[in-house]
Amino acid sequence: MKYDMLLLRLGELTLKGKNRGRFERTVLAHVKSVIRPFPAATIQKEYGRLYIVLNGEDPNAIIKVLKKVFGLYSVSPVAVCPSELDAIIETSRAFIKQMDLKDETTFKVTARRVWKAFPHPSQEMNHLVGSPLLSEFGQLKVSMRNPELELRIEIRESGTYIYCEVIPGAGGFPRGSNGKAMLLLSGGIDSPVAGYSAMRRGLEVECVHFYSYPFTSRKAKEKVMELAKVLSGYAGKIKIHLVPFTEIQTSFTQVGQDNLIITLMRRSMLRIATMLAEREGALAIVTGDSLGQVASQTLPSMNVIGRATELPLLRPLVMMDKNEIVEIAQEIGTYELSILPYEDCCTLFVPKSPTTNPNLHVVERVEASLENLPGMLEEAVQRTETVILTPSSVIAADREEAIEEDWF
Ligand code: ATP
Ligand code: MG
Repeated sequence: MKYDMLLLRLGELTLKGKNRGRFERTVLAHVKSVIRPFPAATIQKEYGRLYIVLNGEDPNAIIKVLKKVFGLYSVSPVAVCPSELDAIIETSRAFIKQMDLKDETTFKVTARRVWKAFPHPSQEMNHLVGSPLLSEFGQLKVSMRNPELELRIEIRESGTYIYCEVIPGAGGFPRGSNGKAMLLLSGGIDSPVAGYSAMRRGLEVECVHFYSYPFTSRKAKEKVMELAKVLSGYAGKIKIHLVPFTEIQTSFTQVGQDNLIITLMRRSMLRIATMLAEREGALAIVTGDSLGQVASQTLPSMNVIGRATELPLLRPLVMMDKNEIVEIAQEIGTYELSILPYEDCCTLFVPKSPTTNPNLHVVERVEASLENLPGMLEEAVQRTETVILTPSSVIAADREEAIEEDWF
């Protein structure tokens, strides 16, 4: 089948008025940037929809890149023919023929006469197109209620659109349409999935990663950079802040309360992320916490750890099972990277029995006893290195304009 266009459906049903306008403009800009490698293709905009006119470009290759555009709900490859009865019947025939149906398939035609001057009303068109198809293709069996195959025909003045496939898109809210958040990105399975979920809700995400040279290797840091690159595929580019954490972490090992080390580390991570959020204009912190998964993710632990920041803590995975998280990680292409064996700074000093029920007063007392802790946090922020990643490159933060043109 030769397809002429792709029909793109935008937005959640509940979107109205001004919000819908903003939503649609943001998706349009994103779609434009991802189809740049297909120069012949052009875009037309309509309420709730976009059309990509293929002009000979490969529909499957374009659908592949569209799968990473949030705010896009589904895509249908469309054949276009003149708005004349014979042409519509002939194109519909060709459409069904190329599907090469083997088994009995329930079927209906849904015609919509958008152009009122077309001589046959919608109901009549259903019969005029449906009858010859039913007599030619023995596998087709009419079902009005819940057909496996619905051939849709939209009759417009400029031409008639014929399609039946509805391919699910990435869904969610468009890129960056709900503000900015800092993502605590480790090398594990969970936090990249949390980042994806946040981006899917329209958050612009900046990554924050804590590393502990020489206890963690360069490989561990590279692995995190690769994970962030995968995430950048959903936004075009992503910023990552690499925070030196060795000194802070080491100071906690000297307190003599080993069961609190993870709690103390997590609180310091949140404090640093909060400082970076202020600097970057982000309004929330996203983590990969999932309730009950490990000692630091029990409800009492989350409670004591969460108090280290006043920013909203978003935990997209909090109620999910591990296997559900792994499934998403596999789908979005982070799983294989995440299971590479390089150590994370948190696994290094993990005590034999980290507390599942830390006491806030004790934790605060320990922190107060470390006089130079605030200074160390400040210094870590100052020594933080920031780079911008795209799916295929690393760019110093002060050279952002170098990629601007490619993506936005
Ligand atoms: P993940 O798979 O995301 O590492 P996890 O189940 O291993 O999660 P933890 O190691 O307890 O859980 O970490 C909980 C959360 O704390 C992570 O999801 C991440 O958001 C954050 N975090 C942990 N270590 C780091 C790090 N080195 N840098 C940045 N964030 C981190
Ligand atoms: Mg981890």
